Amino acid sequence: MIKQNTIEQIMATVKVEEVIEDFVSLKRRGVNMIGNCPFHDEKTPSFTVSPAKNIYKCFGCGKAGDSVRFMMDHDAMSYPESLRYLANKYNIEIEETVNTAEELAVKEVTTSYYIINEFAQSYFNNSLFNTNEGKSVGLSYFKDRGYNESIIKKFGLGFTTSDKNDFTKTAISKQYNIEFLKKLGLTSQYDNDFFRSRVMFTIHNLSGKVIAFAGRTLSQDKKTPKYINSPETDIYNKRKVLYGLYFAKQSIRKEDECIMVEGYTDVITLHQYGVDNAVASSGTSLTVEQINLVKRYTPNIKIIYDGDAAGVKAALRGLDLVLEQDMNVRLVMLPDGEDPDSYLKKVGIEEFRKYLKEKEQDFLFFKTNLLLAEAGDDPIRKSKVLKDIVQSIAKIPDNIKKQLYIQKCSTMMGISEEILIGETNKVIKANQKQQHFRNKRDQPNHVDDSTFLNQKTQPYGTQIGPAKQVVTGDDYQEKDVLRILISHGNLPLKDDSEMLVCAFIIDSVKDEIQHFDNELVKTMFTMAIEQFNANGKIDINAFTSSNDEQVRLLAIDFLADPYIYASWEEKGLQFQTQKDPENNQEKDAIQSIKRFLFRKQGKRIDQLEIKIKELSVTPGSELDLIRYIKAYRIVQTQRTKMAEELGSVFLK
Ligand SMILES: [Zn+2]
Repeated sequence: MIKQNTIEQIMATVKVEEVIEDFVSLKRRGVNMIGNCPFHDEKTPSFTVSPAKNIYKCFGCGKAGDSVRFMMDHDAMSYPESLRYLANKYNIEIEETVNTAEELAVKEVTTSYYIINEFAQSYFNNSLFNTNEGKSVGLSYFKDRGYNESIIKKFGLGFTTSDKNDFTKTAISKQYNIEFLKKLGLTSQYDNDFFRSRVMFTIHNLSGKVIAFAGRTLSQDKKTPKYINSPETDIYNKRKVLYGLYFAKQSIRKEDECIMVEGYTDVITLHQYGVDNAVASSGTSLTVEQINLVKRYTPNIKIIYDGDAAGVKAALRGLDLVLEQDMNVRLVMLPDGEDPDSYLKKVGIEEFRKYLKEKEQDFLFFKTNLLLAEAGDDPIRKSKVLKDIVQSIAKIPDNIKKQLYIQKCSTMMGISEEILIGETNKVIKANQKQQHFRNKRDQPNHVDDSTFLNQKTQPYGTQIGPAKQVVTGDDYQEKDVLRILISHGNLPLKDDSEMLVCAFIIDSVKDEIQHFDNELVKTMFTMAIEQFNANGKIDINAFTSSNDEQVRLLAIDFLADPYIYASWEEKGLQFQTQKDPENNQEKDAIQSIKRFLFRKQGKRIDQLEIKIKELSVTPGSELDLIRYIKAYRIVQTQRTKMAEELGSVFLK
């Protein structure tokens, strides 16, 4: 564990703007700095960094925090990883609390594993570039594939000669522990080299450490396995690794999409052509752990399949679990006999990207089409298809998505929506029963350690459970509107207009007042409306000299420094906006109200979602369900429009 005084030293040293500027270009704006938010897609910067307070906040998506939080969110780091990163950036020596002997032993072993793998990688790399066999066999293979030297170095490619034990002998001469070499699968039980006459692919973990290798034979001998891999160790669990993710993660976040291919070589070729968001599940069929890794960066996966239909059908079965994780999955089938590597080289990058765009299909529709085509007119086989599809739909956690799939699949299959809804509900109920049974039987609170790090997307949970809680607490927005009302209310909205800020604010939010969360704000707004109705303006003194202490204090707060936001959502942090000359009361008021209404609509959407979830599992309520879905879509559309005006992404 990192010692508390080290943590304090890190916190005292780091400058939030310096940490963030490694990833986001920031411009000074008054006392703050702003830039395009790295957490959501935006054209108008709303990501604000306050060097004075050492914090950041995005007014588009609401992400906020300090330097440690930034690295956790941005690079999917754990808390200690983030601290270590920052300590390293600022050359702060980390002091750790004394571990138990057992902890120390484990740590020593894993540290040794990393060191040995690092050595092996440089050995393999050296064999590739500096031995005759490496140059004539390995390097020419990679060159034939079209790899340039920089991509070979980046991905840590290498070669092992036909020599029986040169690697092991070299390693031992350098005092590396033979038992560790065996554990890592680099040395065989007879003390010979495990990888021989192979081109070598290095497998990295998320922070770029070498955790395993894959060796590909270039021999045509059918008895030689094409690929052999390192065994699983304390540092390598193949279910939890995606090949290339270390190099792809930034790009996946930026593109908001992860491209998944089948092989190591596909990943490398794609990266060389600038498709930096490609990874491979390499050797295993896709696992939940791998999907959760991707989910840290994006909810969107595009899977590229080589053009042979036989393999695809088998692969489809595994994909239901991606639906369970509430990911959006699209598939692209390459033309017959092509893999990404071959096809990309054939048509070039422009055509390749175009092909992906044109041919991508939603996973479930793809599956429906494929199964339907196979079933033909056979009614029995068709009803099997129905069951199969309904199983998939039932796994989608989000009810709105579920409803949309039902609509589309109903058209595709020529079956009424009602039947599909009924069948889906049957499956959901059966699953719930099963889950209930399982929960009773198993330890209920098993948490996959990978979910701890999941900052970007919070899963709803994998089965239909209790409806998501309505998020309450619009304190911040409500207070912000009230702040403007009290601090600027009697000023004209624009220099040349007759309208006062208070008239504009009251007119915009009067219908919302009954929905206010904060009772104090509600009271003060009601006071303001009464004053406005009586005198056409608001009476500031009535607030500042009110007998109600809470009213008085809050009003004074607003007036004392109108540019300090009353509170930061949940955090209780203070945030100073800039006193820009053009950031006048008009802009301030309009923006603030828009944000406020935007948030209120978000809550309405949450409420509708809950209602729809309830209805979708209530038999006989299909008509109501459709009504609510329509209402939901209307509010969604309004909110999207508002989001565009606010220059923020449409989140919910
Ligand atoms: Zn944002």
